[in-house]
Amino acid sequence: MGAVETAARVEGLLAVHGEALKSVRELYADTTRPLTGERFRAFMMGMARHAFSFRGVWLTDSSGIIRHEIVFGAPAPPLPAGIDIDTVQALGLGRAARRGYETQSTQISASGPTFAGEPGFIILEPLYAGDRFLGFAGGSITSGTILRNLRPYRSGAETGILLLAGMDTVVAVEATEPASTRSNVYRAPVRVPGGGTWDVAVTYRGPDRNTRLLLWGTGLATLSALVVTLLHERRQGVRLAERSAELERLSTELLRANRAKSEFLANVSHELRTPLNAIVGFTDLLRDGVYGDLSPRQVGPVDRIASSANHLRQLVDQVLDIAKLAAGRLEVHAEPIDLRPFVLDVVSEVEMLVSERGLNLSIAISSALPRVRTDPMHLRQILVNLLGNAVKYTPSGGVAVRARLVTDERERPERSRTAVDGLSVSSSGNHADWVVLQVADSGIGIAAADRERIFGEFEQVGAGPRGDSVQRGTGLGLAISRRLARLLGGDLTVESELGRGSTFSVWLQAERESEA
Ligand code: ADP
Repeated sequence: MGAVETAARVEGLLAVHGEALKSVRELYADTTRPLTGERFRAFMMGMARHAFSFRGVWLTDSSGIIRHEIVFGAPAPPLPAGIDIDTVQALGLGRAARRGYETQSTQISASGPTFAGEPGFIILEPLYAGDRFLGFAGGSITSGTILRNLRPYRSGAETGILLLAGMDTVVAVEATEPASTRSNVYRAPVRVPGGGTWDVAVTYRGPDRNTRLLLWGTGLATLSALVVTLLHERRQGVRLAERSAELERLSTELLRANRAKSEFLANVSHELRTPLNAIVGFTDLLRDGVYGDLSPRQVGPVDRIASSANHLRQLVDQVLDIAKLAAGRLEVHAEPIDLRPFVLDVVSEVEMLVSERGLNLSIAISSALPRVRTDPMHLRQILVNLLGNAVKYTPSGGVAVRARLVTDERERPERSRTAVDGLSVSSSGNHADWVVLQVADSGIGIAAADRERIFGEFEQVGAGPRGDSVQRGTGLGLAISRRLARLLGGDLTVESELGRGSTFSVWLQAERESEA
Protein backbone atom coordinates (compact mmCIF):
# COMPACT_ATOMS: atom_id res chain seq x y z
CA MET A 1 0.00 0.00 0.00
CA GLY A 2 1.43 3.32 -1.00
CA ALA A 3 1.69 6.46 1.09
CA VAL A 4 -1.26 8.11 -0.65
CA GLU A 5 -3.54 5.15 -0.04
CA THR A 6 -2.39 4.88 3.57
CA ALA A 7 -3.07 8.58 4.05
CA ALA A 8 -6.53 8.20 2.49
CA ARG A 9 -7.40 5.31 4.80
CA VAL A 10 -6.25 7.16 7.95
CA GLU A 11 -8.10 10.27 6.77
CA GLY A 12 -11.30 8.23 6.25
CA LEU A 13 -10.97 6.63 9.66
CA LEU A 14 -10.56 9.98 11.40
CA ALA A 15 -13.45 11.54 9.49
CA VAL A 16 -15.87 8.69 10.36
CA HIS A 17 -14.99 8.90 14.05
CA GLY A 18 -15.17 12.68 14.06
CA GLU A 19 -18.67 12.50 12.57
CA ALA A 20 -19.64 9.83 15.14
CA LEU A 21 -18.72 12.16 17.98
CA LYS A 22 -20.72 14.98 16.42
CA SER A 23 -23.80 12.74 16.48
CA VAL A 24 -23.60 12.68 20.29
CA ARG A 25 -25.36 16.03 20.09
CA GLU A 26 -28.59 14.06 19.51
CA LEU A 27 -28.52 12.97 23.12
CA TYR A 28 -29.24 16.56 24.14
CA ALA A 29 -31.92 17.06 21.51
CA ASP A 30 -34.57 15.34 23.60
CA THR A 31 -34.85 17.78 26.52
CA THR A 32 -37.77 15.86 28.07
CA ARG A 33 -35.52 13.00 29.15
CA PRO A 34 -32.51 13.37 31.45
CA LEU A 35 -29.13 12.33 30.05
CA THR A 36 -28.49 9.26 32.12
CA GLY A 37 -25.47 6.96 31.96
CA GLU A 38 -27.78 4.33 30.56
CA ARG A 39 -28.91 6.44 27.66
CA PHE A 40 -25.30 7.42 26.95
CA ARG A 41 -24.20 3.82 26.99
CA ALA A 42 -27.04 2.67 24.69
CA PHE A 43 -26.33 5.45 22.25
CA MET A 44 -22.62 4.72 22.20
CA MET A 45 -23.13 1.01 21.63
CA GLY A 46 -25.22 1.86 18.57
CA MET A 47 -22.66 4.33 17.33
CA ALA A 48 -19.78 1.90 17.78
CA ARG A 49 -21.24 -0.23 15.02
CA HIS A 50 -20.12 2.46 12.52
CA ALA A 51 -17.21 3.99 14.33
CA PHE A 52 -15.71 0.86 15.77
CA SER A 53 -12.17 2.07 16.32
CA PHE A 54 -12.79 4.05 19.47
CA ARG A 55 -11.08 2.59 22.49
CA GLY A 56 -13.16 4.71 24.74
CA VAL A 57 -15.69 7.54 24.50
CA TRP A 58 -16.66 10.02 27.24
CA LEU A 59 -18.83 13.01 27.74
CA THR A 60 -18.13 16.10 29.87
CA ASP A 61 -20.49 18.71 31.12
CA SER A 62 -20.08 22.38 30.24
CA SER A 63 -17.53 22.82 33.00
CA GLY A 64 -15.30 20.12 31.53
CA ILE A 65 -15.95 17.46 34.12
CA ILE A 66 -16.26 13.97 32.74
CA ARG A 67 -19.72 12.64 33.42
CA HIS A 68 -20.07 9.51 31.42
CA GLU A 69 -17.57 7.07 29.96
CA ILE A 70 -17.61 3.87 27.96
CA VAL A 71 -14.63 1.66 27.13
CA PHE A 72 -14.73 -0.76 24.22
CA GLY A 73 -12.77 -3.97 23.98
CA ALA A 74 -10.47 -5.26 26.67
CA PRO A 75 -11.14 -3.62 30.04
CA ALA A 76 -8.87 -0.74 30.82
CA PRO A 77 -8.56 1.12 34.08
CA PRO A 78 -11.63 3.39 34.13
CA LEU A 79 -11.20 7.10 34.53
CA PRO A 80 -11.73 8.37 38.00
CA ALA A 81 -15.27 9.73 37.97
CA GLY A 82 -15.55 13.47 37.89
CA ILE A 83 -12.07 14.14 36.54
CA ASP A 84 -11.63 17.56 34.95
CA ILE A 85 -10.41 17.72 31.38
CA ASP A 86 -7.84 20.32 32.38
CA THR A 87 -6.38 17.93 34.85
CA VAL A 88 -5.25 15.66 32.04
CA GLN A 89 -2.68 18.16 30.91
CA ALA A 90 -0.29 15.43 29.95
CA LEU A 91 -2.51 14.59 27.05
CA GLY A 92 -2.39 18.10 25.75
CA LEU A 93 -6.12 17.87 26.02
CA GLY A 94 -6.52 21.17 27.82
CA ARG A 95 -5.16 23.10 24.86
CA ALA A 96 -7.32 21.17 22.42
CA ALA A 97 -10.37 21.77 24.63
CA ARG A 98 -9.79 25.48 24.76
CA ARG A 99 -9.33 25.67 21.00
CA GLY A 100 -12.45 23.57 20.44
CA TYR A 101 -14.45 25.75 22.82
CA GLU A 102 -13.35 28.88 21.04
CA THR A 103 -13.68 27.71 17.46
CA GLN A 104 -16.60 25.35 18.04
CA SER A 105 -14.83 22.82 15.81
CA THR A 106 -13.50 19.29 16.19
CA GLN A 107 -10.00 19.03 17.66
CA ILE A 108 -7.43 16.32 17.79
CA SER A 109 -5.14 16.06 20.75
CA ALA A 110 -1.43 15.66 20.52
CA SER A 111 -0.52 12.02 20.56
CA GLY A 112 0.57 10.41 23.79
CA PRO A 113 -0.82 8.02 26.37
CA THR A 114 -4.62 8.06 26.25
CA PHE A 115 -6.78 7.65 29.34
CA ALA A 116 -6.32 3.91 29.24
CA GLY A 117 -2.57 4.46 29.23
CA GLU A 118 -2.22 3.11 25.71
CA PRO A 119 -0.47 5.31 23.12
CA GLY A 120 -2.86 7.10 20.85
CA PHE A 121 -4.77 10.38 20.52
CA ILE A 122 -8.13 11.83 21.30
CA ILE A 123 -10.76 13.39 19.05
CA LEU A 124 -12.53 16.13 20.91
CA GLU A 125 -15.89 17.44 19.79
CA PRO A 126 -17.29 20.59 21.49
CA LEU A 127 -21.04 20.26 21.83
CA TYR A 128 -23.24 23.31 21.39
CA ALA A 129 -27.01 23.80 21.31
CA GLY A 130 -27.20 27.01 19.38
CA ASP A 131 -24.80 29.28 21.25
CA ARG A 132 -25.07 27.34 24.47
CA PHE A 133 -22.03 25.24 25.29
CA LEU A 134 -23.06 21.80 26.52
CA GLY A 135 -19.72 20.11 27.04
CA PHE A 136 -17.30 17.90 25.18
CA ALA A 137 -17.60 14.49 23.57
CA GLY A 138 -14.22 12.80 23.42
CA GLY A 139 -13.08 9.54 21.91
CA SER A 140 -9.69 7.92 22.16
CA ILE A 141 -8.14 6.01 19.32
CA THR A 142 -5.02 3.98 19.99
CA SER A 143 -2.09 3.57 17.67
CA GLY A 144 -2.73 -0.16 17.75
CA THR A 145 -6.24 0.37 16.40
CA ILE A 146 -4.95 2.44 13.53
CA LEU A 147 -2.42 -0.25 12.72
CA ARG A 148 -5.07 -2.96 12.84
CA ASN A 149 -7.15 -0.89 10.44
CA LEU A 150 -4.31 -0.63 7.98
CA ARG A 151 -3.06 -4.19 8.24
CA PRO A 152 -5.44 -5.81 5.71
CA TYR A 153 -4.24 -3.41 3.04
CA ARG A 154 -0.52 -3.83 3.51
CA SER A 155 1.23 -5.56 0.68
CA GLY A 156 4.27 -6.59 2.65
CA ALA A 157 6.55 -4.59 0.40
CA GLU A 158 6.50 -1.67 2.77
CA THR A 159 9.01 -1.92 5.58
CA GLY A 160 7.70 0.89 7.68
CA ILE A 161 4.72 3.15 8.17
CA LEU A 162 5.02 6.40 10.02
CA LEU A 163 2.06 8.62 10.91
CA LEU A 164 3.23 12.00 12.15
CA ALA A 165 1.20 14.75 13.77
CA GLY A 166 3.62 17.62 13.47
CA MET A 167 6.67 16.49 15.43
CA ASP A 168 4.77 13.72 17.25
CA THR A 169 4.67 10.20 16.10
CA VAL A 170 1.13 8.82 16.10
CA VAL A 171 1.89 5.46 14.60
CA ALA A 172 5.22 3.91 13.82
CA VAL A 173 5.79 0.51 12.32
CA GLU A 174 9.48 -0.02 12.57
CA ALA A 175 11.48 -0.69 9.47
CA THR A 176 12.99 -4.13 9.98
CA GLU A 177 15.47 -4.02 7.14
CA PRO A 178 19.17 -3.89 7.88
CA ALA A 179 20.61 -0.42 7.89
CA SER A 180 22.86 -1.19 4.96
CA THR A 181 20.00 -1.50 2.51
CA ARG A 182 18.64 1.70 1.23
CA SER A 183 14.91 2.37 1.43
CA ASN A 184 12.63 4.40 -0.71
CA VAL A 185 10.41 6.73 1.33
CA TYR A 186 7.09 8.04 0.05
CA ARG A 187 5.09 10.73 1.84
CA ALA A 188 1.50 11.94 1.70
CA PRO A 189 -0.54 14.42 3.78
CA VAL A 190 -3.52 13.38 5.93
CA ARG A 191 -6.29 15.92 6.53
CA VAL A 192 -7.52 15.61 10.08
CA PRO A 193 -10.93 16.72 11.44
CA GLY A 194 -10.97 20.37 12.51
CA GLY A 195 -8.35 21.35 9.95
CA GLY A 196 -4.64 20.73 10.02
CA THR A 197 -2.65 17.94 8.50
CA TRP A 198 -0.67 14.94 9.57
CA ASP A 199 1.89 13.18 7.49
CA VAL A 200 2.22 9.63 6.35
CA ALA A 201 5.57 8.23 5.34
CA VAL A 202 5.74 4.74 3.91
CA THR A 203 9.12 3.17 3.42
CA TYR A 204 9.81 0.39 0.96
CA ARG A 205 12.58 -2.08 0.96
CA GLY A 206 15.38 -0.82 -1.24
CA PRO A 207 16.86 -3.42 -3.53
CA ASP A 208 19.37 -5.69 -1.80
CA ARG A 209 23.00 -5.82 -2.83
CA ASN A 210 22.54 -8.54 -5.40
CA THR A 211 19.48 -6.94 -6.91
CA ARG A 212 21.28 -3.63 -7.01
CA LEU A 213 24.22 -5.22 -8.76
CA LEU A 214 21.84 -6.92 -11.16
CA LEU A 215 20.04 -3.63 -11.85
CA TRP A 216 23.35 -1.90 -12.38
CA GLY A 217 24.44 -4.67 -14.68
CA THR A 218 21.25 -4.57 -16.70
CA GLY A 219 21.43 -0.79 -16.93
CA LEU A 220 25.03 -0.89 -18.06
CA ALA A 221 24.32 -3.63 -20.58
CA THR A 222 21.38 -1.67 -22.01
CA LEU A 223 23.48 1.46 -22.17
CA SER A 224 26.32 -0.37 -23.90
CA ALA A 225 23.90 -1.93 -26.37
CA LEU A 226 22.49 1.51 -27.06
CA VAL A 227 25.93 2.99 -27.58
CA VAL A 228 26.94 0.12 -29.84
CA THR A 229 23.75 0.50 -31.87
CA LEU A 230 24.25 4.22 -32.15
CA LEU A 231 27.84 3.80 -33.25
CA HIS A 232 26.77 1.15 -35.72
CA GLU A 233 24.05 3.43 -37.13
CA ARG A 234 26.52 6.26 -37.36
CA ARG A 235 29.03 4.09 -39.14
CA GLN A 236 26.30 2.86 -41.50
CA GLY A 237 25.32 6.44 -42.19
CA VAL A 238 28.90 7.46 -42.85
CA ARG A 239 29.39 4.40 -45.08
CA LEU A 240 26.20 5.20 -46.96
CA ALA A 241 27.25 8.79 -47.46
CA GLU A 242 30.67 7.63 -48.63
CA ARG A 243 29.12 5.16 -51.02
CA SER A 244 26.73 7.71 -52.49
CA ALA A 245 29.59 10.19 -52.85
CA GLU A 246 31.60 7.46 -54.57
CA LEU A 247 28.66 6.69 -56.86
CA GLU A 248 28.30 10.33 -57.69
CA ARG A 249 31.99 10.55 -58.43
CA LEU A 250 31.83 7.42 -60.59
CA SER A 251 28.85 8.68 -62.53
CA THR A 252 30.50 12.04 -63.22
CA GLU A 253 33.63 10.19 -64.19
CA LEU A 254 31.61 7.93 -66.45
CA LEU A 255 29.95 10.89 -68.08
CA ARG A 256 33.30 12.56 -68.48
CA ALA A 257 34.85 9.38 -69.88
CA ASN A 258 31.97 8.94 -72.28
CA ARG A 259 32.30 12.47 -73.46
CA ALA A 260 36.06 12.09 -73.73
CA LYS A 261 35.57 8.93 -75.77
CA SER A 262 33.20 10.69 -78.11
CA GLU A 263 35.53 13.65 -78.40
CA PHE A 264 38.43 11.33 -79.06
CA LEU A 265 36.48 9.45 -81.72
CA ALA A 266 35.38 12.67 -83.33
CA ASN A 267 38.94 13.99 -83.40
CA VAL A 268 40.49 10.75 -84.64
CA SER A 269 37.83 10.33 -87.29
CA HIS A 270 38.38 13.84 -88.39
CA GLU A 271 42.13 13.22 -88.61
CA LEU A 272 41.50 10.01 -90.57
CA ARG A 273 39.26 11.73 -93.07
CA THR A 274 42.01 13.91 -94.55
CA PRO A 275 44.40 11.09 -95.57
CA LEU A 276 41.44 8.96 -96.63
CA ASN A 277 40.19 11.71 -98.90
CA ALA A 278 43.66 11.88 -100.40
CA ILE A 279 43.68 8.12 -101.00
CA VAL A 280 40.24 8.19 -102.62
CA GLY A 281 41.12 11.28 -104.67
CA PHE A 282 44.44 9.98 -105.94
CA THR A 283 42.94 6.54 -106.70
CA ASP A 284 40.27 8.25 -108.80
CA LEU A 285 43.01 10.19 -110.62
CA LEU A 286 44.92 6.91 -111.21
CA ARG A 287 41.76 5.25 -112.57
CA ASP A 288 41.04 8.24 -114.77
CA GLY A 289 44.56 7.86 -116.33
CA VAL A 290 45.79 11.26 -115.14
CA TYR A 291 49.10 9.59 -114.26
CA GLY A 292 49.19 7.49 -117.43
CA ASP A 293 47.14 4.48 -118.41
CA LEU A 294 47.00 1.60 -116.00
CA SER A 295 48.18 -1.73 -117.25
CA PRO A 296 45.41 -4.41 -117.33
CA ARG A 297 47.04 -6.06 -114.31
CA GLN A 298 46.93 -2.84 -112.33
CA VAL A 299 43.20 -2.07 -112.92
CA GLY A 300 41.92 -4.77 -110.58
CA PRO A 301 44.02 -3.84 -107.51
CA VAL A 302 43.43 -0.10 -108.00
CA ASP A 303 39.65 -0.74 -108.14
CA ARG A 304 39.98 -2.70 -104.90
CA ILE A 305 41.90 0.17 -103.32
CA ALA A 306 39.18 2.58 -104.44
CA SER A 307 36.29 0.52 -103.07
CA SER A 308 38.05 -0.24 -99.80
CA ALA A 309 39.02 3.38 -99.33
CA ASN A 310 35.42 4.43 -100.01
CA HIS A 311 34.10 1.96 -97.49
CA LEU A 312 36.63 3.12 -94.96
CA ARG A 313 35.69 6.74 -95.57
CA GLN A 314 32.00 5.90 -95.12
CA LEU A 315 32.83 4.14 -91.88
CA VAL A 316 34.90 7.06 -90.65
CA ASP A 317 32.10 9.46 -91.60
CA GLN A 318 29.58 7.42 -89.63
CA VAL A 319 31.84 7.09 -86.60
CA LEU A 320 32.38 10.82 -86.77
CA ASP A 321 28.62 11.36 -86.88
CA ILE A 322 27.87 9.06 -83.98
CA ALA A 323 30.68 10.59 -81.93
CA LYS A 324 29.41 14.07 -82.64
CA LEU A 325 25.87 13.05 -81.76
CA ALA A 326 27.04 11.48 -78.50
CA ALA A 327 29.12 14.54 -77.65
CA GLY A 328 26.15 16.76 -78.47
CA ARG A 329 28.23 18.54 -81.06
CA LEU A 330 25.96 18.01 -84.03
CA GLU A 331 24.19 21.20 -84.98
CA VAL A 332 20.65 21.39 -86.24
CA HIS A 333 19.51 24.07 -88.63
CA ALA A 334 15.80 23.53 -88.93
CA GLU A 335 13.79 25.15 -91.71
CA PRO A 336 10.43 24.57 -93.36
CA ILE A 337 10.75 22.02 -96.15
CA ASP A 338 8.43 21.02 -98.95
CA LEU A 339 8.68 17.27 -98.73
CA ARG A 340 7.76 16.23 -102.28
CA PRO A 341 10.57 18.00 -104.24
CA PHE A 342 12.99 17.21 -101.43
CA VAL A 343 12.30 13.45 -101.58
CA LEU A 344 12.35 13.39 -105.40
CA ASP A 345 15.79 14.98 -105.30
CA VAL A 346 17.18 12.49 -102.77
CA VAL A 347 15.64 9.50 -104.54
CA SER A 348 17.23 10.52 -107.82
CA GLU A 349 20.60 9.81 -106.16
CA VAL A 350 19.76 6.15 -105.62
CA GLU A 351 17.70 5.62 -108.75
CA MET A 352 20.65 4.11 -110.59
CA LEU A 353 21.33 1.69 -107.78
CA VAL A 354 17.69 0.56 -107.69
CA SER A 355 17.43 -0.10 -111.36
CA GLU A 356 20.81 -1.87 -111.37
CA ARG A 357 19.33 -4.37 -108.93
CA GLY A 358 16.22 -4.76 -111.08
CA LEU A 359 13.89 -3.38 -108.40
CA ASN A 360 10.80 -1.22 -108.82
CA LEU A 361 10.77 2.21 -107.26
CA SER A 362 7.57 4.08 -106.46
CA ILE A 363 7.07 7.45 -104.85
CA ALA A 364 3.73 8.57 -103.40
CA ILE A 365 3.86 12.00 -101.78
CA SER A 366 0.93 14.37 -102.11
CA SER A 367 1.79 17.91 -102.99
CA ALA A 368 -0.99 18.94 -100.58
CA LEU A 369 1.08 17.78 -97.59
CA PRO A 370 1.96 20.53 -95.14
CA ARG A 371 5.58 21.49 -95.02
CA VAL A 372 7.76 19.92 -92.35
CA ARG A 373 10.16 21.73 -90.08
CA THR A 374 13.51 19.98 -90.13
CA ASP A 375 17.21 20.15 -90.98
CA PRO A 376 17.42 19.13 -94.69
CA MET A 377 21.00 17.88 -94.44
CA HIS A 378 20.22 15.49 -91.61
CA LEU A 379 16.93 14.37 -93.16
CA ARG A 380 18.79 13.64 -96.39
CA GLN A 381 21.27 11.48 -94.50
CA ILE A 382 18.45 9.50 -92.91
CA LEU A 383 16.62 9.01 -96.17
CA VAL A 384 19.78 7.97 -98.06
CA ASN A 385 20.54 5.42 -95.36
CA LEU A 386 17.02 3.99 -95.39
CA LEU A 387 16.95 3.79 -99.18
CA GLY A 388 20.41 2.20 -99.23
CA ASN A 389 19.28 -0.45 -96.72
CA ALA A 390 16.03 -1.06 -98.60
CA VAL A 391 17.97 -1.75 -101.79
CA LYS A 392 20.62 -3.75 -99.95
CA TYR A 393 18.16 -6.06 -98.19
CA THR A 394 15.64 -6.49 -101.03
CA PRO A 395 16.64 -9.23 -103.47
CA SER A 396 13.50 -8.82 -105.60
CA GLY A 397 10.36 -6.75 -105.76
CA GLY A 398 10.52 -3.07 -105.12
CA VAL A 399 11.00 -0.09 -102.87
CA ALA A 400 8.34 2.53 -102.16
CA VAL A 401 8.72 5.97 -100.64
CA ARG A 402 5.54 7.61 -99.35
CA ALA A 403 4.50 10.33 -96.94
CA ARG A 404 1.24 11.26 -95.22
CA LEU A 405 -0.15 13.51 -92.57
CA VAL A 406 -0.97 11.91 -89.22
CA THR A 407 -3.60 13.70 -87.15
CA ASP A 408 -4.79 10.75 -85.10
CA GLU A 409 -3.07 10.80 -81.75
CA ARG A 410 -3.32 7.02 -81.38
CA GLU A 411 -1.38 6.37 -84.56
CA ARG A 412 1.76 8.10 -83.37
CA PRO A 413 4.61 6.14 -81.90
CA GLU A 414 4.87 6.24 -78.10
CA ARG A 415 7.91 8.47 -78.24
CA SER A 416 6.36 11.10 -80.45
CA ARG A 417 3.26 11.18 -78.30
CA THR A 418 5.26 12.41 -75.38
CA ALA A 419 7.77 15.19 -75.67
CA VAL A 420 10.72 14.03 -77.62
CA ASP A 421 13.97 13.51 -75.82
CA GLY A 422 14.79 17.01 -74.68
CA LEU A 423 16.77 17.49 -77.86
CA SER A 424 13.65 18.42 -79.75
CA VAL A 425 14.00 21.32 -82.16
CA SER A 426 10.40 22.10 -81.46
CA SER A 427 9.90 24.07 -78.32
CA SER A 428 6.51 22.49 -77.67
CA GLY A 429 6.27 18.94 -76.35
CA ASN A 430 2.75 18.29 -77.60
CA HIS A 431 3.14 18.96 -81.26
CA ALA A 432 -0.21 18.89 -83.04
CA ASP A 433 0.45 17.25 -86.40
CA TRP A 434 3.06 14.91 -87.73
CA VAL A 435 4.15 13.91 -91.22
CA VAL A 436 5.36 10.37 -91.50
CA LEU A 437 7.84 9.66 -94.28
CA GLN A 438 8.09 5.95 -95.02
CA VAL A 439 10.55 3.78 -96.94
CA ALA A 440 8.96 0.39 -97.57
CA ASP A 441 10.53 -2.62 -99.24
CA SER A 442 9.55 -6.15 -100.16
CA GLY A 443 12.85 -7.52 -98.90
CA ILE A 444 14.03 -10.10 -96.39
CA GLY A 445 12.32 -8.43 -93.42
CA ILE A 446 13.46 -8.27 -89.83
CA ALA A 447 12.56 -10.76 -87.09
CA ALA A 448 10.63 -9.33 -84.12
CA ALA A 449 13.56 -10.03 -81.82
CA ASP A 450 15.85 -7.87 -83.95
CA ARG A 451 13.52 -4.95 -84.56
CA GLU A 452 14.83 -2.80 -81.71
CA ARG A 453 18.34 -4.19 -81.71
CA ILE A 454 19.15 -2.94 -85.21
CA PHE A 455 18.94 0.65 -83.94
CA GLY A 456 21.86 0.00 -81.60
CA GLU A 457 25.40 0.98 -82.56
CA PHE A 458 27.26 -1.65 -84.65
CA GLU A 459 24.20 -3.94 -84.51
CA GLN A 460 23.61 -6.12 -87.54
CA VAL A 461 21.34 -9.07 -88.14
CA GLY A 462 23.21 -12.25 -89.09
CA ALA A 463 26.42 -10.32 -89.80
CA GLY A 464 27.60 -13.16 -92.09
CA PRO A 465 31.10 -13.80 -93.37
CA ARG A 466 33.45 -10.87 -93.13
CA GLY A 467 34.56 -11.27 -96.78
CA ASP A 468 32.96 -8.50 -98.74
CA SER A 469 33.41 -5.47 -96.57
CA VAL A 470 31.53 -3.19 -98.93
CA GLN A 471 28.40 -5.30 -98.80
CA ARG A 472 28.75 -5.95 -95.09
CA GLY A 473 27.97 -2.41 -94.01
CA THR A 474 28.91 -0.96 -90.64
CA GLY A 475 25.88 -1.43 -88.44
CA LEU A 476 25.93 2.28 -87.67
CA GLY A 477 23.47 3.58 -90.29
CA LEU A 478 20.24 3.00 -88.37
CA ALA A 479 21.77 4.05 -85.05
CA ILE A 480 22.76 7.38 -86.56
CA SER A 481 19.44 7.75 -88.40
CA ARG A 482 17.34 7.25 -85.28
CA ARG A 483 19.47 9.63 -83.25
CA LEU A 484 19.23 12.20 -86.02
CA ALA A 485 15.45 11.76 -86.31
CA ARG A 486 15.12 12.34 -82.57
CA LEU A 487 17.47 15.28 -82.71
CA LEU A 488 15.10 16.74 -85.30
CA GLY A 489 12.22 16.42 -82.84
CA GLY A 490 10.77 13.26 -84.33
CA ASP A 491 11.56 9.56 -84.35
CA LEU A 492 12.46 6.59 -86.51
CA THR A 493 10.42 3.40 -86.17
CA VAL A 494 10.13 0.13 -88.05
CA GLU A 495 7.42 -2.37 -88.91
CA SER A 496 8.47 -5.57 -90.56
CA GLU A 497 7.59 -9.15 -91.30
CA LEU A 498 10.30 -11.69 -91.86
CA GLY A 499 10.47 -12.66 -95.56
CA ARG A 500 7.79 -10.11 -96.52
CA GLY A 501 9.58 -6.79 -96.24
CA SER A 502 10.08 -3.83 -93.92
CA THR A 503 8.71 -0.32 -93.55
CA PHE A 504 10.83 2.33 -91.83
CA SER A 505 8.93 5.47 -90.71
CA VAL A 506 10.55 8.83 -90.13
CA TRP A 507 8.35 11.04 -87.96
CA LEU A 508 8.61 14.73 -88.80
CA GLN A 509 6.90 17.70 -87.23
CA ALA A 510 4.45 19.39 -89.57
CA GLU A 511 4.93 23.13 -89.90
CA ARG A 512 2.08 24.91 -88.12
CA GLU A 513 -0.29 27.08 -90.11
CA SER A 514 0.80 30.20 -88.24
CA GLU A 515 4.47 29.36 -88.72
CA ALA A 516 4.14 28.73 -92.48
P1 ADP B 1 24.28 -1.73 -91.99
O1 ADP B 1 25.43 -0.91 -92.34
O2 ADP B 1 24.62 -3.11 -91.51
O3 ADP B 1 23.19 -1.71 -92.98
P2 ADP B 1 22.34 -0.41 -90.40
O4 ADP B 1 22.43 0.20 -89.05
O5 ADP B 1 21.88 0.45 -91.50
O6 ADP B 1 23.74 -1.06 -90.68
O7 ADP B 1 21.37 -1.64 -90.27
C1 ADP B 1 21.49 -2.53 -89.19
C2 ADP B 1 20.95 -3.86 -89.56
O8 ADP B 1 19.52 -3.79 -89.72
C3 ADP B 1 21.42 -4.38 -90.87
O9 ADP B 1 22.65 -5.05 -90.71
C4 ADP B 1 20.32 -5.34 -91.28
O10 ADP B 1 20.50 -6.58 -90.68
C5 ADP B 1 19.08 -4.70 -90.70
N1 ADP B 1 18.33 -3.93 -91.72
C6 ADP B 1 18.40 -2.60 -91.93
N2 ADP B 1 17.54 -2.23 -92.92
C7 ADP B 1 16.91 -3.35 -93.30
C8 ADP B 1 15.90 -3.64 -94.30
N3 ADP B 1 15.36 -2.66 -95.06
N4 ADP B 1 15.48 -4.90 -94.42
C9 ADP B 1 16.00 -5.88 -93.65
N5 ADP B 1 16.96 -5.69 -92.71
C10 ADP B 1 17.41 -4.43 -92.54
